[in-house]
Amino acid sequence: MDTKLLDILACPVCKGPLVLVRDSRELVCRADRLAYPIRDGIPVMLEEEARRLSSEDPAMAR
Ligand SMILES: [Zn+2]
Repeated sequence: MDTKLLDILACPVCKGPLVLVRDSRELVCRADRLAYPIRDGIPVMLEEEARRLSSEDPAMAR
């Protein structure tokens, strides 16, 4: 995925920054504990499509 694209992406819920989790191919908002899927290289920035993360999820770790 193009990292320049990441710069312009923000969480649709809180407008905060997103973290690209490369292994799982998701964009994570740690503030909302939501993981947005990346399908065929295209981020799906929809809250209803996002996966809810627990505080123990590896995607929440820095
Ligand atoms: Zn957010």
